[in-house]
Amino acid sequence: MNHFNELKLPPALEKALQVMKFEQPTPIQAKAIPVALANRDLIGCAQTGTGKTAAFSIPMITRLTKVPNKTGLILVPTRELGSQILEVLKNLTQFAPEMKSTLLIGGMSMKAQVRSAQSKPRIIVATPGRLVDHLKRGTVSLSSVEILVLDEADRMLDMGFAPQLNEILRFLPKVRQTLCFSATLPSDIEKLSARYLKDPVRVTIGVVSQHANKIQQSVVQTLQTKKNDTLMDQLNVRKGSVLIFARTKSRTDRVARYLAEYGHPVTRIHGGRTQGQRTAAVEGFRDGRFRILVATDIAARGIDIPHIAHVINYDLPQVPEDYIHRIGRTARAGAEGQAISLVTPEDKPQWREISRLLERSGTKIAIQ
Ligand code: AMP
Repeated sequence: MNHFNELKLPPALEKALQVMKFEQPTPIQAKAIPVALANRDLIGCAQTGTGKTAAFSIPMITRLTKVPNKTGLILVPTRELGSQILEVLKNLTQFAPEMKSTLLIGGMSMKAQVRSAQSKPRIIVATPGRLVDHLKRGTVSLSSVEILVLDEADRMLDMGFAPQLNEILRFLPKVRQTLCFSATLPSDIEKLSARYLKDPVRVTIGVVSQHANKIQQSVVQTLQTKKNDTLMDQLNVRKGSVLIFARTKSRTDRVARYLAEYGHPVTRIHGGRTQGQRTAAVEGFRDGRFRILVATDIAARGIDIPHIAHVINYDLPQVPEDYIHRIGRTARAGAEGQAISLVTPEDKPQWREISRLLERSGTKIAIQ
């Protein structure tokens, strides 16, 4: 498939794709959409940033256009990813007012969500915990779900969502289509696929570590006591927006406070902040009011902000794969990006593990 118009999509969706300037499908879209349109279950191996949202939203909207009483459910691990997917859905359905979607995520008013759930949305985007709350209260029904998407399934399992997913499964119709997306295919996903999917087609786009190709990566050696100075030097010699990762909530707060004291326009996001604060932080960073966003790994996946020019690992990630996810926040949609890791002598073992992962994909890293 070279062009979306080969797919005979509903006219309202075709028109939306034109307005959004989505002409050629990305590789994951080219492989996954025809399979999903043929009503097959699917395991897609792809990360955010590869056009995954449209890869499942286009077939979902197409299918729901044909069966007016049915609904779709998209499960995501984080609230931010949920909000982002809702925006894409709104764009894709801008010429189909009957195709309403709603967001059921934690940290937001239950009351407003109940109201919105009762207005018969066709697509529900939800985080597992909040959806289970709604199911227990009987404020949402999943009996008409015709198509289910599990997005970032590996991460959902990582984060301990399995009990909630099992609970949700009890409320879902047995006959349905299921599309599962994951950045990696660990054995957990295989197990999940047996529970959730029927005879799935597997679609893989590269390996996770190949994502880093357009990203210039470098290491800056420093000392724990000099990290703040090194960070400041890096910020001063770089232009453009910067996403900084720190290990914990308190370290995130501390780095942000330090930068703010020196007059940097900085905001922060971590699991300890309210949903309102998290949304305001991401939006302020997205619209350029803040040049810098300091974050925990909560922002390592899912966040799609095209103008992020630099990712700085103030602290290295605990899990080597998270390095790939973090640096994937830059060099979005064809742009170039820089990834800088501050490495102290104590970090050496962790850095070795990351280097091993990168060596497998032939990535070169400059050491300063
Ligand atoms: P995603 O992986 O869904 O977060 O998408 C990554 C970025 O690629 C988003 O900014 C999308 O708007 C953009 N995108 C996705 N599909 C296409 C396409 N077919 N043509 C152009 N841009 C796209």
